[in-house]
Amino acid sequence: MNDAPMTTRRIAMVAHDNKKHDLLRWCEYNRRVLANHELWATGTTGTMLEYELGLRVNRLLSGPVGGDQQVGAMIAENRLDVLIFFWDPLEPQPHDPDVKALLRLAALWNAPAACNAATADLMISSPLFGGDYQWHRPQIDPRQWHGAED
Ligand code: PGA
Repeated sequence: MNDAPMTTRRIAMVAHDNKKHDLLRWCEYNRRVLANHELWATGTTGTMLEYELGLRVNRLLSGPVGGDQQVGAMIAENRLDVLIFFWDPLEPQPHDPDVKALLRLAALWNAPAACNAATADLMISSPLFGGDYQWHRPQIDPRQWHGAED
């Protein structure tokens, strides 16, 4: 079977500590597909994926020291296509504001974002994932949030 995608997606992966094992298993299962895309990850997540699975990953800062914000900036600047973010709903994080900000930017920019393995499975197995489908990136009018006085 040829796993080569028609379109290389820029994919960022982030997993909180209690979810790293889940992400590792998911990436292991999808390793051949993922290897054909451009992978990004927060620091510890990226190190894990490189060492455990031999994937080539562009590593950002660790999440709690700015990595989540870097991923958010990539979404805002249209430098990222897909977010796989296994965040932990049972454990408060020191960087909870950054987590919220990242999820907000993904929603704002209509970025495909999977927060659990089930969603990630559906996303990566979609024919649209490797095809030339490009989702709508909203045109955001600055007057929407500055008030429309002028
Ligand atoms: P990490 O960051 O990959 O450096 O552990 C993930 C996070 O907590 O956002």
